[in-house]
Formats: sequence, structure tokens, C-alpha cells
Amino acid sequence: MAKRQFKTESKKILDMMINSIYTHREIFLREIISNSSDAIDKLHIKALEDPSVGKSKEDFRIDIKVDRDARTITVTDNGIGMTAEEMDKNLGCIAHSGTLEYKENLGDDADSEAIGQFGVGFYSAFMVADKVTVISKAYGSETANKWESSGPDGYSIKECERDGVGTDVIMHIKEEEDGEEIDDFLETESIRELVKKYSDYIRWPIHMTVDESEWEETGEKDEEGKPKKELVTRKVDKVVNSMVPIWRQSKEDAPDEKCIEFYQSTFHDYEKPTGLLRVSAEGSISYKALLFIPARTPFDFYTREYKAGLQLYSNGVMIMDHCDDLLPYCFRFVRGVVDSPDFTLNISREVLQHDRQLQAVGSYLTKQVKKELARILEEDREKYESFWHSFGKIIKYGTVDGYGKDSELLKDLILFRSARDDKYVTLAEYVKGMPEGQEKIYYVSSDSVAHAKALPQAEPVFAKGYDVMVFDDEIDTFVTNILREYEGKKFCNITSDDLGLESEEDKKEAEKKDEEFKEVTDFCKETLGDAVAEVKISRKLKSHAVLLSTQGGVTFEMEKYFREMPGNEEEGIKASRVLELNSEAPVFQTLRDAIGSDKERAADIVRVMYGQACLMAGQPLDDPVGYSDLVLRMI
Ligand code: ADP
Repeated sequence: MAKRQFKTESKKILDMMINSIYTHREIFLREIISNSSDAIDKLHIKALEDPSVGKSKEDFRIDIKVDRDARTITVTDNGIGMTAEEMDKNLGCIAHSGTLEYKENLGDDADSEAIGQFGVGFYSAFMVADKVTVISKAYGSETANKWESSGPDGYSIKECERDGVGTDVIMHIKEEEDGEEIDDFLETESIRELVKKYSDYIRWPIHMTVDESEWEETGEKDEEGKPKKELVTRKVDKVVNSMVPIWRQSKEDAPDEKCIEFYQSTFHDYEKPTGLLRVSAEGSISYKALLFIPARTPFDFYTREYKAGLQLYSNGVMIMDHCDDLLPYCFRFVRGVVDSPDFTLNISREVLQHDRQLQAVGSYLTKQVKKELARILEEDREKYESFWHSFGKIIKYGTVDGYGKDSELLKDLILFRSARDDKYVTLAEYVKGMPEGQEKIYYVSSDSVAHAKALPQAEPVFAKGYDVMVFDDEIDTFVTNILREYEGKKFCNITSDDLGLESEEDKKEAEKKDEEFKEVTDFCKETLGDAVAEVKISRKLKSHAVLLSTQGGVTFEMEKYFREMPGNEEEGIKASRVLELNSEAPVFQTLRDAIGSDKERAADIVRVMYGQACLMAGQPLDDPVGYSDLVLRMI
């Protein structure tokens, strides 16, 4: 068969693996063993679902053989194996694009040892080997295949013989000029130490043939008549890992660093997690969980490719890879494992959804995640804000989702931008900072704090010394619509809601003005027609002449949100616009005069006022060319 080419990205990584000297290259073994363990998990789950597989838990194992003379290390498993197609797909192409993303972020510095620390799966074999051979027979397949590669030039796949289902990964260790260090990997004892160091918790037994020495009686006697003994060394097959999963180990045996290393290699993240939770529960159902809050958004987080969910284990054996029924949608970034002897082995999704005990586990874990986030928010603001950058959006979606069923859980985790201090605040902090007399929580949708501060509507609010939260994400207004209030304080959108700042006297005064200038507002409405729902004398404007606001539940941001949803470009949901006029502004008087003397000119003035209001509100003009012509003509 002709030589096949690696995918371009894979080739780059492979090149790096081969050409760099890593101090961390010993992690290759952890990566290969973890693949074997995953492959066994897969076949074991199959066996649980289907007895005709004919395998039980005791049958599974991983074997490591070191052959000094042949300069090979072979890792063998009796897991699910791979077909020729799977070998082509899985080994010809780098699996975690996160790695590449990382490399690209680092630029050329990526060829540092850092990359070796988190590993790049199967390819890390090339850090120590100049040739890798994989022999595999997939479950349900009659034939076995041999994949072989000596690096970026490509690889070949040929049919071959293999007894039974499973995989052998044979690594031909490089010969290096100053080869002492690399030759270390050909020592059985060094390999055994590496297993202990990185793979001790693997749930399947890792067998090695090791030398074991014992004093044995020779059958002869010494001068004193005692039996003679000699040291005999034999090769024995031993299980070299403790098989205690990391989440079952005490904090002393599995300190945070060890758990973090587990997280990074299991969930393929090169960054340390933001949060680490150890949960241990005893009761009607007892279980242990080790959960992680990642520091950054996985590259595929907002795509269909992203698989949320926790790994489920029963007594240390994986029974489900992505159980997404335990945590709510808004916590789908959480990674980790839950292990309970009470989980039945052939658990199905249907069972999960209806099992009350499992629901109890889920709701407890959900509370713990929330608690951990609240703790970070309290104790390490910078860390929390960085978490917020990564996952704030999903927390906000979660608040809105399902008519706000999780809003109670999430409302104290939300951050909004404060216009006063140009920094993030929680709702609790906003309310705490409210001066005497402030009754509402003010917010405005704007793309920046600077723009929000310059908005005419914001003027009277700032004048009172009240803070305004700046909503720069379309989802933000949906969040406040769902929450409605916080600690009894109602949310107030300063572009569309009554600011509630007027005294009774102010109100009377305003009503009088409405009456007095009715002729003007009516004229404006007539001129603008359906473009606006209403024209009124503003109660918010102080120094600016006009203002475009909205009435009803739909704001400009919602309109934009709906407009940008695919398929909604044309009609969509529209905000009803209100043109507000400042009766104290000079242009207002000009307009009044014109209505009395020259209706056509007055209509042009109205159109300009409306156009300016649209511009100030950041709304597109219906007819920009016509509008410009009009303005220039008037000048
Ligand atoms: P990852 O393990 O992160 O998916 P790897 O590069 O380590 O990435 O492996 C790529 C894929 O090759 C695995 O996802 C798996 O499908 C397959 N694979 C690797 N080793 C084995 C093995 N020992 N048995 C079966 N499949 C394997």
C-alpha cells in the first residue's frame, strides 16, 4: 500500500515532537497508557450492555514490555482496538486541536518544553521513538492491521495477524549520540517508576515482567549446620499500578497538583483549572466526585462538537463518558468524574433522567459548583473575572433558559459593568452601593462605558449620583427581564422605562407641558408616520435636544438580537420607537415657529431631529443618502 500523508497540522506537531528535546518527554508513556485504558473502558462498557461480548471486568489488562536488545517498548491492551479506517482517521490526524491553538498562541516559542508538559496524545511517542508500530484488531473485526510510521514523511497501513482483539503500540527507541538519558527508557525499572509516577491511578491492571529477588535455601548446610541461602532473581509478572483512582485517594496521596495533572491529561487542557472540587458524600447513595472548572473556553465550546457531561464510574470502572444529566446546562463547562458503588453498571440515559437518587447527586453537585464559584468570586476577584470572560455568557444564558428555572441559582454569580467605576459589579454590590433614596437598579444597553455615559437618557440618573450598569451583551436585557428585581429593587432600562425620579410636582409640571405642546408633538408624529410609535415631550432630557427611546418590552438590543438570528433578517421583532423632545432646547422653539409659518420647513426640521436621535441612539438611518442630502440642503 502506498504511503499515506499526515494531515498538515499533525505533521507540524509531529515535527516538533521529533526535533525538540523535552525534559518532559517521559510523559509519552502516560499518554499511551491512557489511550489503552480508554480503549478498555470502551470495550468494557460494550460488554456491560451486551453479554455476547463475553468479557468481564477481570479479563482486561494492559501489558508493558521492555526489550533492551531490540530497543523497543511495547504497550499492549485488550481494549476495543481499531480498524484500518480508524487507524487512518485517529492516528493520521491530531486529535486535540487545542494543542495546535496553544502552539499558535505561543508562536515559535512553542518549541519549548512547555508543550511536552501536557502531552499531545499518541504523537508524544515520537519524542522517544524514531519509529512507531501499532498493531490492532478491532472488536467485531476478523482482520488485524499494522500501522507504521517513522515520522512526518507519512505512514503505512497493512493487514497483519494478531491474536484476539486489542492493540499493541511498539515504540522503537531512538539512538542518540549522547544516548544515556534516552537509553534509560529501556530499563524495566525506569519504566516501572514512570508508571508509578504518572499512571498509578489507571483503573486497569498494568502488568510488567520484573525482576524479583529472594533469599532461598540451597539445600546445603553451612559450617554451623544452618541451611545455606542464596539470592535468586526471577522474572515475575506483576501488577505495577495501585489502581486506586485519583478521586478515591486522600488529599495527602493526591494533592492538588496531582489532581491538576490528572485533569490536564484526561481533559486535554494545557491550562490549570480555575476551580477544583473534591466531593465525598455518604448517605442513601454514597459517591465521590472530582470536578474541575476550566480556566478558558474550550475551542469548540460554542459548537455542536462540544460534548458536555461528567464521566460516571462505578467502583472505579467507567460506565459513561459524558453524562450530561447531572449538572444543568449553564454548568456544562465543568469537567470531572463521579464514582459510586451504587451506580448500576448498565445505567442508561433514560434511567438516569428518572432516577431520583441520581437527581439528588446532580443537585448536590450543582450546589457545590455554585458554592465554589461563589467562593472564587469572594476570595479571588481577578480569577473570577477571568472565569467570567470565559464562561459568563453561558451563565447568563442559563439564567434566561427555561423561563428562568435556574435564575435563583445563578443570579449572584452574574457580573455587569458599572458605568460609574468602569469595573465589574455583582447585583449585590450594585444594590449595596445605592445611595439613600435610590429605588431602582438602572441599566442601559451600550457597547461601551464611555458611550453609555454620553447618552442623553443617562444624564438625569448620573446627576443624582446613581450608578448605571452597562449592558454590552445582547443577552443582558433578557437576564434582567427574567429576574425582574433584585432584593426588592426593580430593574429600570433608562432608554425605555420611567426613571421614577420625578416628584409629584415635577409630574404635574410635565403634564401641563404635554398639553401645552400637543400641537408640536402631533405634528411630529404626523410627519414621521409609522417610523415612530409616539412623539412626546421628554422628562429625561436636560442638555440634549432629542432622544430616541423605546416603549413596550422590546428594546433596541433585543431587536438587534432577533435581527441577527439566522432567517430573521427581514421582518423580525421590532422595538417601538419613541421620539422625545426637549422643550427647553433652542431647536424646539425653531420648530414651533416653523409650524406656524412654514409647514414644509417644519417637516424637514422634524426629519432632521429624528435622524439625529437615531444617530445618538446608535440606530441605523432608514435612508442615509436622503438624510444627508436633507441636512446639507438645510445648511
Ligand atoms: P486522544 O486520546 O486525545 O483522543 P490520541 O492522539 O492519544 O488522542 O489518540 C487518538 C485516537 O486514537 C484515540 O482517540 C483513539 O480513538 C485511538 N487510539 C489511540 N490508542 C488507542 C488504543 N490503544 N486502542 C484503541 N484506540 C486507540
